[in-house]
Amino acid sequence: MLNRRVFIRQTCIGAAVIVAAPAHAKAAMLEDSEAQALALGYHADGRDTDKAKFPNYTDGDKCSDCALFQAHVGENAGSCKLFPDKLVAASGWCSAYQMAI
Ligand code: SF4
Repeated sequence: MLNRRVFIRQTCIGAAVIVAAPAHAKAAMLEDSEAQALALGYHADGRDTDKAKFPNYTDGDKCSDCALFQAHVGENAGSCKLFPDKLVAASGWCSAYQMAI
């Protein structure tokens, strides 16, 4: 049977683990072929973007420079507000790109 002190200690440790875990730790990568990716012209490698179809793409633009991208420095994937259940590649790009200030 747990005493009060052990219960409080274990609860605090559990809460700390939950807070420390990245929000996107278990999300799958967004694939170029998925409907939501196709709708916005997303490519995991932005250089694969069809420039005729998406003239707002500029060489060198990538998710890691986008205002909607969230990741820790050095990570090659992160979350995007447009694709909340998936990870996008830092090297990716889609037509909703917004250069971070
Ligand atoms: S909105 Fe930005 S971060 Fe999200 S997929 Fe498009 S370019 Fe990448």
